[in-house]
Amino acid sequence: METNASEKLSCLIIGSGPAGYTAAIYAARANLKPVLYQGIQPGGQLTITTEVENYPGYPEGVMGPEMMVDFEKQAARVGADIRYGIATKVDFSSSPHKVWIDENKLIETHTVIIATGASAKWLGLESEQRLNGFGVSACAVCDGFFFKGKEVAIVGAGDTAAEEALYLSKLCTTVHMFIRRDQMRASKIMQERVMNVTNIKIYWNTDTEEILGGNNVTGVRIKNNKTGELQTILVSAFFVAIGHQPNSDIFKGWLDMDDAGYVKTVPGTSKTNVEGVFAAGDVQDKIYRQAVTAAGSGCMAALDAERWLTAKGIH
Ligand code: NDP
Repeated sequence: METNASEKLSCLIIGSGPAGYTAAIYAARANLKPVLYQGIQPGGQLTITTEVENYPGYPEGVMGPEMMVDFEKQAARVGADIRYGIATKVDFSSSPHKVWIDENKLIETHTVIIATGASAKWLGLESEQRLNGFGVSACAVCDGFFFKGKEVAIVGAGDTAAEEALYLSKLCTTVHMFIRRDQMRASKIMQERVMNVTNIKIYWNTDTEEILGGNNVTGVRIKNNKTGELQTILVSAFFVAIGHQPNSDIFKGWLDMDDAGYVKTVPGTSKTNVEGVFAAGDVQDKIYRQAVTAAGSGCMAALDAERWLTAKGIH
């Protein structure tokens, strides 16, 4: 184990989803000699999805984990130094910035690209975990298509749930929407849209007790938390849309963030409030959250980092 070793870099990338690897590809090709630390979940959220059909360039679709192996191979082939390790602490008070890996390895780097992503929140049911990827999904835009013409369910009542319910309503026969209170958190306009769609059936004051099915989702058991009434509904898929948690804890106090912890970037760029620190992908995007948008923002971050280094005369 490395202890107290300090390494000096031009460009450090933290995170290994589409944003991190794309930043690595661009930074390596620009000769920034980037080092990328993969983090807790190498490959990121795509490693817990099944088939990806909406990433351009894969006409037959691709399995999420396989796609991330492709991203990693491409980054390695152009010279990125990809390492297993977790960034555990940062100090952005002066340049070069300090980042600690696995608590004991110190890296001093002129630029940092933060691509630590976000994690979907889950209800915490055993059945939800068991059937994840087999009808349970936290991304309607990714997986809704596989349930075209079927009945599906969604839990959540924020803007994401509203948007995903609307998306599913165009593909599926009926969308059963479970809301734990007697009102929705989503913006007024999104609420109105959901209410006006006839094939979205809303269940107020409703908790999910269990997702049913052996190998695939076949139904869901719900409970009205006011009356205690139990009900079983037959569905082919169960979408969880109860929010995401950006993986930004170690940057708190250094970077400007919104209330939910998303890192703020200057619109149209990847620049954070700290010179030389850039953010890409889901850690700074609560709206689009797609592999392709994350990859695009990773490219932006690498170009921003390169320009920043050039402007400072650092090679
Ligand atoms: P939110 O935190 O806004 O909403 C989460 C929803 O999930 C809430 O309705 C909450 O219920 C519900 N929920 C949480 N935990 C549970 C649980 N255990 N069981 C059942 N329900 C649960 O998250 P979103 O992802 O919807 O949105 C995040 C942010 O992104 C918001 O600021 C939103 O406005 C924004 N956004 C904007 C979009 C746009 O502008 N197009 C699109 C998507 C998101 P309760 O209300 O009872 O707490």
